[in-house]
Amino acid sequence: MSVYFEDIELQDCPYCGGTGCLEEEGGWCLYVQCLDCCSHTAEFAFHSEAERAEAARQAAHIWNMGKVIHSRPDD
Ligand SMILES: [Zn+2]
Repeated sequence: MSVYFEDIELQDCPYCGGTGCLEEEGGWCLYVQCLDCCSHTAEFAFHSEAERAEAARQAAHIWNMGKVIHSRPDD
C-alpha cells in the first residue's frame, strides 16, 4: 500500500531514474520502492505512529543516499 508523508521528499530511482514510492506493508513496516524497476530499500519496522513517521524518514533517507537493492525479476 502506497503512503504519503508531506514532509518527505524522494529522489528518483538510482538505477533507472523512475519514481520512488513509500510503501507500507502489513501495518508494521515501511520501505521505498521504485515504481518502474521494483528496486527497494530495506524494510523499517514500527510499532507506533511516532515510530511509523521515523521509519518513513529512515527509508526515505537511505533511498535518497542510493542504498537501494536492485531487484531483477528476470534473473
Ligand atoms: Zn527503478
